[in-house]
Amino acid sequence: MATTPAVGVLALQGDVREHQKVLTDLGAEVVLVRTPAQLEAVSGLVIPGGESSVIDKLSRIFELADPIRQRIEVGMPVFGTCAGLIMLADTVLDAIEGQRSFGGLDVTVRRNAFGSQNQSFETQLEVPELGEPPVHATFIRGPVVDTVGARARVMASLPDGRVVAVAQGNLLGTSFHPEMNGETRFHSYFLDRVAEHAA
Ligand code: GLN
Repeated sequence: MATTPAVGVLALQGDVREHQKVLTDLGAEVVLVRTPAQLEAVSGLVIPGGESSVIDKLSRIFELADPIRQRIEVGMPVFGTCAGLIMLADTVLDAIEGQRSFGGLDVTVRRNAFGSQNQSFETQLEVPELGEPPVHATFIRGPVVDTVGARARVMASLPDGRVVAVAQGNLLGTSFHPEMNGETRFHSYFLDRVAEHAA
């Protein structure tokens, strides 16, 4: 029987536990990634929500930023939610001075595009690729995808047209937090990419 490859959750800051639980419930072996050696041991990575400027800073201090960039370049599947999507975007608007992303996704995102913490909201989001029912999506100071480049594709938009989920090859990013609502289909999609890539 084939063994399922281990997947990582970048565990520098943010809602690490929630992702760990969804992935574990789906049957995945999960490694919390804080060192380059732990990164090497995983076949895919989830970047949680939190604060992208902090994740950026800590990833450099922990010497994970360049190794993550290199793995993204060679096709490692990565799923980023909220701050995680910001870390995957090639271009970030309204970043703090000196803030960098890992990049990989051919998109421009705008941080905090939905306003402050108390303007957080939840909505039922149609995601055609995931079928029915719609996704219960929680937005907490999330980014919006301002521009979708030729290599990326839109997975979901709000009724007003703002893009909030994108994919490109083995990369997936959402402006919202599926891990907070018992939603597992994005994580399943990610694990499928991991299984395919490892095969
Ligand atoms: N506003 C945060 C940032 O810019 C993202 C918020 C979140 O991940 N819930 O990183």
